[in-house]
Amino acid sequence: MTLLSVDEARARLLAGARPLAETETVAADLALGRVLAAPLVSGVAVPPLDNSAMDGYALLHSDCAEGRWLAVTQRIPAGHLGQPLKPGEAARIFTGAPIPEGADTVVMQEDCESADGRVLVKQAPRPGANIRRAGEDIRVGQDVLVVGDRLTPARLGVAALVGATDLTVFRRLKVAVFFTGDEIVMPGQALAPGRIYNSNRATLRGLLDQLGCEVIDLGQVPDRLDATLEVLQRAAACADVVITSGGVSVGEEDHVKAALERLGRIDMWQVAMKPGKPLVYGRVGDADLPSQTDFLGLPGNPVSAFVVFCLFARPFLLARMGTAAAPLKAYTVPAGFDWAKPGKRREFLRARFEDGRATLYPSQSSGVLTSLAWADGLVDIAAGATVKPGDPIRFLPLTELLA
Ligand code: AMP
Ligand code: MG
Repeated sequence: MTLLSVDEARARLLAGARPLAETETVAADLALGRVLAAPLVSGVAVPPLDNSAMDGYALLHSDCAEGRWLAVTQRIPAGHLGQPLKPGEAARIFTGAPIPEGADTVVMQEDCESADGRVLVKQAPRPGANIRRAGEDIRVGQDVLVVGDRLTPARLGVAALVGATDLTVFRRLKVAVFFTGDEIVMPGQALAPGRIYNSNRATLRGLLDQLGCEVIDLGQVPDRLDATLEVLQRAAACADVVITSGGVSVGEEDHVKAALERLGRIDMWQVAMKPGKPLVYGRVGDADLPSQTDFLGLPGNPVSAFVVFCLFARPFLLARMGTAAAPLKAYTVPAGFDWAKPGKRREFLRARFEDGRATLYPSQSSGVLTSLAWADGLVDIAAGATVKPGDPIRFLPLTELLA
């Protein structure tokens, strides 16, 4: 089997991701992380009126000739409308307050002297200064958010800014998960000899919760074909996507691929990367039915499962949710380590960016999950490359991989 590059595998996965069509209306207060399914059109201008960007005095620029005192005839706090200004008058004005008719400039208070209800401009700004224009941020009828926008805190702020109380979003993506392996037990259960705790469940659930998916947890499955077939069928019946951990290698105890082959179709790719070479992608159900459920099989090794999720499953799920994942974002930083032995495959090493350079966790084994708990990024090293301290390398912050 030929090895696919990481980029090719991502492109193939994305090509197969069918975006959700069903939408629902949710309260804006509960919409964090959801994906917008209809453009949000503003019914208001922001700001609604020309208003002051400073605490100071609103006046006619031509009135602030040097040495001329102007009568302060009104006081306009934010939220209140002033009266038209006559020539030779100034209005005391505060940040956010509407500019009165007859004024064309705001002078900040630090540039003025005031006494006995009059004001003297010591330093005149340019005409029109310190005024925020009506509609300069948002025009009436403008699309402030578009289909496919994920609702971040800033975007929810924009929705509130134009007065939205409800938003049309795609329904949540349903993701069924199960975990294979005779050796895994749940925290809280006794750890018999030869057993290990199931860590992939906690990690994967956290990753899916962060994405805003509806997780259907079907628990642990023993390494038997009949049990795997049964749970895969149940998973496919209730979810848009099934994600599993373990059981996708070529060993006799690996039944996930066989089960998927029986119940649907399978694309098994070898990706030229480390950790996490095998990537199982497929669909459960009749190929002619639109209701086919997608399948993604993650490796069992906890680090491999995490990296494969970030690089492949996550962009796929985002596309299914109706939005686009950002392209892989890497920063070029100096290496704080030596990588003398070139690898055969592209490697994603657990690293930290500290003191202006990237350092590696001492163990890069794909079973050592503490490396990921320690890391704040992955160092991306090309196949065949060696690195000396100080060399520029690609650093992928986890915050970007999970953005
Ligand atoms: P597998 O892909 O099933 O061959 O598993 C590869 C390695 O990952 C083995 O050492 C497993 O014990 C380990 N492993 C599999 N599933 C889990 C899990 N849910 N949590 C922690 N380790 C796991
Ligand atoms: Mg296994």
